[in-house]
Amino acid sequence: TMKFDVNVLQYLSKDDFRVLTAVELGMKTHEIVPADRVDQLARLKRGGCYKVLKNLLRHKLVHHDSTKYDGFRLTNLGYDFLAIKALVNRGVFVSVGRQLGVGKESVIYEVGTEDGTILAIKLHRLGKTSFRAVKSKRDYVENRTHFNWLYLSRLAAKKEYAFMKKLGDEGFPVPNAVDWNRHCVVMSLVPGYPLVQVKEIQNHDVVFETIISQIIHMAEVGLIHCDFNEFNIMIDDNEKVTMIDFPQIVSTSHRNAEMYFDRDVECIIKFFRKRFNIHYDERPSFSSIEKSSECLDKVLAASGFSKKDQEEIEKITQTNELNSETGKESEATDESESSDDETEATDEAIDERSLPDAYIEAGIIKMESLRVVDQHES
Ligand code: ADP
Ligand code: MG
Repeated sequence: TMKFDVNVLQYLSKDDFRVLTAVELGMKTHEIVPADRVDQLARLKRGGCYKVLKNLLRHKLVHHDSTKYDGFRLTNLGYDFLAIKALVNRGVFVSVGRQLGVGKESVIYEVGTEDGTILAIKLHRLGKTSFRAVKSKRDYVENRTHFNWLYLSRLAAKKEYAFMKKLGDEGFPVPNAVDWNRHCVVMSLVPGYPLVQVKEIQNHDVVFETIISQIIHMAEVGLIHCDFNEFNIMIDDNEKVTMIDFPQIVSTSHRNAEMYFDRDVECIIKFFRKRFNIHYDERPSFSSIEKSSECLDKVLAASGFSKKDQEEIEKITQTNELNSETGKESEATDESESSDDETEATDEAIDERSLPDAYIEAGIIKMESLRVVDQHES
């Protein structure tokens, strides 16, 4: 696992970040961005882009690839640093601490705010396992733009933030959604442990009932978690339950909704049986729940998801037997390379959230929104 050397962040200069952002920008159209393209995008006042790239390479923020031609791409760490820097500059947190967990497709770290509060960040890493999972469908690996791992990780973070916020507003026990940038979601730190690590529960009936009633209550607002299990339920010393991990949420009007719902319920029942030897025979019935099914679409629309984004994110997060069984994934629309290839970083300071949607969707953040503090200013 990757460790953050926050000191590196501190020693990166404004030019370093400009060039790093230029690589990100270049990846919109190039899997490997040629060095002169990076130079063109970065437009360093005093030149020296290649030297800066070497420095980024040394810190493993970019990767050098010369198999087809000489060029660079962001590493996970490089993308992490861009997101972290943006959030730090926004004042969301000031330090990155220890790793709290590793999920299937994410890493979670503690971060500290100015006033000493500890929060959690989740860095999404869609790409590796998920690309492998859908490889048979040929969409992502070959036909889609190479921008995908950045794009999809960002989409997952955006969706997770949107639903964490929505569920919080609806009174569900979820982490407080604080902010997000690129593939990074900032949320409150959940006390306790994932249920999977808990060996003993005092009031298992209460805990069980609480968990099942959350599943039902979610269906009532039109949502199904779809990965509701002992890894995604946190429990503290007072046996208070918090649910986490939302990028794969679907609507109760999804064609496989009932199966997903039943599967979530079954996971919990099975866990309680295996771990605590408690048997529950009754199952809530999906069809008898009164559902308001517009919720998902509304939330997605409100956070700027296009229909295509929705399909993409569903495809990538729902790559399980249930879905492939139906075999009806829509054919990937092989979009032609984007037309705004000539996009350049400008010198205006613009909050990325005020940028046109196309920019946002491409994960492009204006360099100046990074407001990097040069290394000797403190
Ligand atoms: P994934 O989608 O990769 O499964 P999760 O959101 O489930 O990622 O997070 C992975 C692990 O990180 C969790 O099982 C939990 O142990 C820890 N974790 C996640 N979010 C928090 C949080 N807000 N506070 C404390 N620990 C967390
Ligand atoms: Mg998880």
